[in-house]
Amino acid sequence: AMSDCLFCKIVDGSIPSTKVYEDEHVLAFMDIMPLTKGHTLLIPKKHHENVYDMSSEVAGQLFSVVPKIANSLKASFQPVGLNLLNNNGAPAGQSVFHFHLHFIPRYDQTDGFKASWQTKEKQYTSEMFAEYAEQIRLNLSK
Ligand code: 5GP
Ligand code: ZN
Repeated sequence: AMSDCLFCKIVDGSIPSTKVYEDEHVLAFMDIMPLTKGHTLLIPKKHHENVYDMSSEVAGQLFSVVPKIANSLKASFQPVGLNLLNNNGAPAGQSVFHFHLHFIPRYDQTDGFKASWQTKEKQYTSEMFAEYAEQIRLNLSK
């Protein structure tokens, strides 16, 4: 465990949290500054800074409990929607550098969640998509 990591301290119990799910590999607990009712965080117990830093084994352990938690939030609070959000890197909004997946139950358009989503399809061509896909495929196999 990283001694100066807030979420490692939540895992080891030296900082209290309101837990909703725990197994050998992962922990889910209430976000202390919730965006909406039921806002929950899911983390691997082992310290991984972000998605780049996780093995597929850890990612599998984490995502294997995602439907369970999502369905529990749905049954508990009857939200009209649910956003799953993971921020990687400070410019992307990450403020705690131990991987976490946000579960944000949605209730209406004024519930405080806003993701600005301005598409720019006019700037891209199918040739560009093909080039990007080729680049990604090359790096996948490295
Ligand atoms: P990020 O901005 O890194 O994606 O999300 C970090 C989240 O951790 C924020 O939503 C913030 O409210 C939450 N958080 C920060 N400190 C604590 C804490 O001490 N306890 C809990 N339960 N959540 C925290
Ligand atoms: Zn940590």
